[in-house]
Amino acid sequence: MSEKIEKTIIIGSGPAGWSAAIYAARANLQPVVYEGTPKPEMIPLGQLAFTTEVENYPGFPAGNVRAFIASAVSRDRHYNLPPAPTGYEHEKDSLPHYAVQGIELMELMKQQAINFGTRIISDDIESVDFTGNVPSLKPASGDAVSARTVIIATGARANYLGLPSEEEYKNKGVSACAVCDGALPLYRAKPLAVVGGGDSAVEEATYLANLDRADKVYLIVRRDQMRASKVMQDRALKHPKIEVVWNSVVDEVLGDGKVVTGLRLKSTADDSTSEIQVGGMFVAIGHTPNTDFLNGAVAMNDAGYIQWSNAFRTLTSAKGVFAAGDVADDYYRQAITSAGTGCMAALDAERYLAELDE
Ligand SMILES: Cc1cc2nc3c(=O)[nH]c(=O)nc-3n(C[C@H](O)[C@H](O)[C@H](O)COP(=O)(O)OP(=O)(O)OC[C@H]3O[C@@H](n4cnc5c(N)ncnc54)[C@H](O)[C@@H]3O)c2cc1C
Repeated sequence: MSEKIEKTIIIGSGPAGWSAAIYAARANLQPVVYEGTPKPEMIPLGQLAFTTEVENYPGFPAGNVRAFIASAVSRDRHYNLPPAPTGYEHEKDSLPHYAVQGIELMELMKQQAINFGTRIISDDIESVDFTGNVPSLKPASGDAVSARTVIIATGARANYLGLPSEEEYKNKGVSACAVCDGALPLYRAKPLAVVGGGDSAVEEATYLANLDRADKVYLIVRRDQMRASKVMQDRALKHPKIEVVWNSVVDEVLGDGKVVTGLRLKSTADDSTSEIQVGGMFVAIGHTPNTDFLNGAVAMNDAGYIQWSNAFRTLTSAKGVFAAGDVADDYYRQAITSAGTGCMAALDAERYLAELDE
């Protein structure tokens, strides 16, 4: 075990992790962030690094963001910035105007944390021990590390259907977040499909159907009934723009090589296939919180999300351990809410340490 006990270790590098780091660093908690390593469904910089335009993060209206980003992000990480998107330019003046892209926004957050002295380690935390006086963490490489406070900000990952054609059209008409992406130009004035039969699938279908530019929304349900609550089912069934397609699964996402143009559906009743024309598919079959490595060391709900032990505080059931972002939120799952609870976790950690030291 290493000799040094850190004041604060943050696990995770999405909006929650970097916001916690910014607040913790400015409060002289000298935070260390374990940012994780790249995996197919989970990468450093978090879920936003998988997406293109982010139109709903406050403070980032579409504009000539590239010049700002280039000036703010350290040159040695410019290689990680995506090329300018095409087809989104606003026609305000001769300068390119478009919304900030997911990776750009995350690089800015990371830079802000670095500017205040955050130390970053590119490794995963593999296991934890919260039974002693001081929380202890085991990284994938190297010895265990300890910290008086730990902020868990490891996020969640959206579940997908697992079709190769779905993978091909991610960000080109396939999304796992209607609230995030539904209003993007790519999806405007086109029929759309939502896949899933639970409350969040109905929530997503209703959200899309209520956009004034929306055309029609198919809700693709595997069985002859939904898992959604009665009130949510009624909402979908009564909505004039929503058509429920019962007993069906998506067999293939169809496209023209650039964007989604339709779906081939397969009947779960008789294996027959049919096609619908849609400009987008929103997968709403749940999320998986990244909590396996905790091995039950803090209280979680049935779906594996960390439970806060006090309402509106980020404390967990383990002493000195706080949770922020999607890993403790199975409801809102937005960048801004994650950043907000990241801030809360750092403030909670700071106050916890101040009380201990009094
Ligand atoms: C396709 C897509 C588009 C989206 N678009 C928008 C949008 O437009 N606007 C919006 O507000 N929200 C959007 N969201 C949702 C938003 O991305 C999430 O709500 C937000 O990223 C959650 O932030 P977080 O910090 O809690 O966790 P995450 O962003 O999930 O980050 C968690 C981080 O923890 C790391 N990690 C996990 N386990 C470990 C470990 N054991 N050790 C070390 N590191 C670990 C991961 O590598 C990852 O970097 C979108 C999501 C998706 C999937």
